Amino acid sequence: MEILLAKEMGFCWGVRRAISMMEKAVSERGQIISLGPIVHNPQVVAALAEKGIQVTSSIDGVSGVPLAIAAHGVGPKVLEEAKAKGLEIIDTTCPIVTRSQRWAKKMAEDGFTVIVYGDADHREVKGVLSWAQGKGIALTEEALDSLPQELSSRVAIIPQTTQSPARFAAFIGRLLRERLAQISELQVVNTLCDVTASQQAAARELAQGVELVLVIGGHNSANSRHLAEACREAGAETHHIETAAEVEAQWLTGRERVGITAGASTPDWAVEEVVRCVRGLAPK
Ligand code: SF4
Repeated sequence: MEILLAKEMGFCWGVRRAISMMEKAVSERGQIISLGPIVHNPQVVAALAEKGIQVTSSIDGVSGVPLAIAAHGVGPKVLEEAKAKGLEIIDTTCPIVTRSQRWAKKMAEDGFTVIVYGDADHREVKGVLSWAQGKGIALTEEALDSLPQELSSRVAIIPQTTQSPARFAAFIGRLLRERLAQISELQVVNTLCDVTASQQAAARELAQGVELVLVIGGHNSANSRHLAEACREAGAETHHIETAAEVEAQWLTGRERVGITAGASTPDWAVEEVVRCVRGLAPK
């Protein structure tokens, strides 16, 4: 059985940058607390906890320890609260996410209703929406019907950075078809991340040449879920796994070519473990 790896996969530069900033900070200060997991990958979070990087879900109980903001970023209120508490802030927000936040703020100030195309429960989307200061809404194509009828006639759309370009384009098309009569001015800002788009393209290419794809990434990682969707759309049987322990021997039966890809929050060692596991389980 042949194992093929996607041409582009795994930790993106934004996550590598965030982890390296936090590792440097913890080596200098001894301990830091990250607001929310550093990445959507429990194994990476556990490895960093051993180095002294703890995780909290709220800044309420934090005092006397530097507070790290993860790559997904936060809203302005959180930053103000942290400053009011006198906390040192280590801001590792990915510059691409910062760009989204700035656009959301600017478009809201310019009088647009800001639609963030993405998952309303995702931390990046929540953060970006808070920069729109009450003038934003998160939507996906499935929830388009929930867009208020009394929408402002000036609409701005930005995507969650990890969304698929094709789906984002389809969303804009559907919004225009269904709501054009209500829209006098439309501004679209492309805040999609190149890393995500190229990893998705590489995943699709991989999926077209194999019978089975294993997508490695946290089950709570939107980016990894989108990679799995891209592989399924390309026609390959696809399993989204977090660790090598989830690989089932029966998936490999009768396969000649198995593809492996990984989300932007998946470290190289997790990929190597899955490759070793698949080699070990492959029918001899
Ligand atoms: S996937 Fe893109 S936007 Fe997200 S952290 Fe990585 S580089 Fe930044």
